[in-house]
Amino acid sequence: MNEKGNLSINSENFLPIIKKWLYTDKDIFVRELVSNACDAVTKLEKLSHLGEAEISENEKFEIHVVLDQDQHTLQIMDNGIGMTADEIKKYINQIAFSGATDFLAKFQEKAEQENEIIGHFGLGFYSAFMVADKVEIDTLSYQKDAQAAKWICEGGIDYEMASGSRDSRGTTITLFLGADGKEFLEESTLYSALRKYCSFMPVPIFVDVIKELSEEEKAAEKKEANTLHISPEDAAGLTKEGALEKLGEKNIEDAEEPKPLNDTTPLWQKQPKDCTDEDYKAFYHKVFLDMNDPLFWIHLNMDYPFRLKGILYFPKLVEHMDVMEGEIKLYSNQVYIADNIKEVVPEFLLLLKGVLDCPDMPLNVSRSALQNDGYVEKMNSYITKKVADKLTQLFKNDRSAYEGFWDDIGIFIKYGCMREEKFYDKVKDSLLYKTTDGVYETLSEYLEKNKENHENKLFFVSDENLQAQYIRLFKEQGLEAAILSTTVDKPFVSFLEYKNPGLKVQRIDADITDTLHQKEDTEISEAQKQADEYTNNRMETLFRGFLNNDSIKVNVESLKTENVSAMILLSEDSRRMMEMMEAYGSGADLKAMFANIKPEETLVLNRSNGLVKYLLAMSEKEDQKEDTEILCHQVYDLALMSHRPLSSEEMTRFIDRSNTILEKLASLEIHK
Ligand code: ADP
Ligand code: MG
Repeated sequence: MNEKGNLSINSENFLPIIKKWLYTDKDIFVRELVSNACDAVTKLEKLSHLGEAEISENEKFEIHVVLDQDQHTLQIMDNGIGMTADEIKKYINQIAFSGATDFLAKFQEKAEQENEIIGHFGLGFYSAFMVADKVEIDTLSYQKDAQAAKWICEGGIDYEMASGSRDSRGTTITLFLGADGKEFLEESTLYSALRKYCSFMPVPIFVDVIKELSEEEKAAEKKEANTLHISPEDAAGLTKEGALEKLGEKNIEDAEEPKPLNDTTPLWQKQPKDCTDEDYKAFYHKVFLDMNDPLFWIHLNMDYPFRLKGILYFPKLVEHMDVMEGEIKLYSNQVYIADNIKEVVPEFLLLLKGVLDCPDMPLNVSRSALQNDGYVEKMNSYITKKVADKLTQLFKNDRSAYEGFWDDIGIFIKYGCMREEKFYDKVKDSLLYKTTDGVYETLSEYLEKNKENHENKLFFVSDENLQAQYIRLFKEQGLEAAILSTTVDKPFVSFLEYKNPGLKVQRIDADITDTLHQKEDTEISEAQKQADEYTNNRMETLFRGFLNNDSIKVNVESLKTENVSAMILLSEDSRRMMEMMEAYGSGADLKAMFANIKPEETLVLNRSNGLVKYLLAMSEKEDQKEDTEILCHQVYDLALMSHRPLSSEEMTRFIDRSNTILEKLASLEIHK
């Protein structure tokens, strides 16, 4: 006898709301229904352990997903716990049991904010209606003398119950795919949803696809079925696959053992001591579709005070890419939830690749609620600590390997330091700086090594090519600078100073007082000082006039090297200010604010250099004014070129002028 009724919820809008709002990704019904099937198996196994259910010894638990393209149905079958008619009424009909009414009330307010919810609400089963016009449950409970029961619902609030047709324990859910679900008739769409959500579910999943057949194929199949000696009654309604299956039953030895779609014991669930390097690498390749090997990894394995398992990989930096792009996959009991949820994972870890399984995480809340959740906070600090521990261990125990990784992991670590104070505190002594000498040093190693020349000062290079000239000068003096050339280094430099009071971090072209200056042996006389000042002023006036730049400073100094005629210095503060302007300067307010700030540019003329010596002498002769001007421009351009790239106009002028100079030189030679 059939029984009809309606779902005991108050809102008639229930299913439409589910359809529209509950899940933004339609394919989530795959996760919900297959995970229900897994749950059904797990529950039965538990009961059997407790001696409350009988399972035959060699029974295999399996889930079968059957797509029938001809009938437009999708079935999910399990041999789990099953349900009695009463249980269907309780767990399926009375949706109020899962707090749905409450949920709806709350949810309607929030419905506007899409993507808000990441987990599910104990309404998983009803996600079937996102793709199906009609859903059927056919189920037989494990309980003694249970009767199979059937439940049919066409998407409204009415349902129908009848006796079921399953003759073995378990549940078959049949979805009659409607217009909203027709893409799941495609084998590839179904497979990609299954791979996305079910790849690591704990019960083996097998997929069968029954193809849609043309009339001819149907006729041919009938013929084939007949030749296979299947009775006409059997053949009726059997597809080709069905027929072959029948055949398969007859030739069981030939048939290859079908492979499940999923890996029921993913690596993260194993004990770290049972996993080899090869296992970790293979898992990485498979999950992240990355051909490269990861550098190293961290296996998280915690049971108390909360459960958290997972593997975090440090990927190799993709060449020519300044930013790392990570991928953290979140699972709950081997059921995939989502990727890169920044509310759950410390933000800087999103630069890594990995899997995290957090069965205790409250997923049925909004994202913002999750962010303030105590559990998430504890989990975050646990993961952060584990990552920091791994890094400091590597640094201590295998410095050369750690140095080898640094170019790849440095960006991540620096970013992490700026995002998480606690992380910085743990790893600060393991931060490395690659120097212009090609070695890796910690800050204290660098400072110790260079304290003779400059105390508590870290020099750095932001562009090895552009600053090649300065680097050469540094090297000639036996000095070294750290190479800080990635995007994360700009803010990191300020961060470093903030964290190390007293430390000054300067770009290599900011100042030469400590590094390239000739150290005076004797006290400079008052007369000499005055003479120097006079020369400085004279040259400054000269250059300001020729360059048409009244803010440039000119200093004539004796550098330790003779090879360089002039250098341009830009004070550290000025440069940072200009960089800030470049970064944020589009706003009118800021433009106005910066309008009056002129960069403090200094041209240092090297008195030890032959050309400069000539220039100083020539500049005092009135009749050589023309040549002096040419030389001043050329010396300035040479300095500029090792400071920044010339603009195309500057370059044209430089080339023209070089030609003029060489022509003069050649004509002098020939008239000798
Ligand atoms: P949840 O899984 O969070 O409890 P669902 O809406 O997904 O919520 O399922 C509701 C209930 O229906 C389940 O708790 C379970 O009791 C029952 N159920 C759903 N699918 C199955 C199944 N395949 N086998 C047995 N029971 C099921
Ligand atoms: Mg469920």
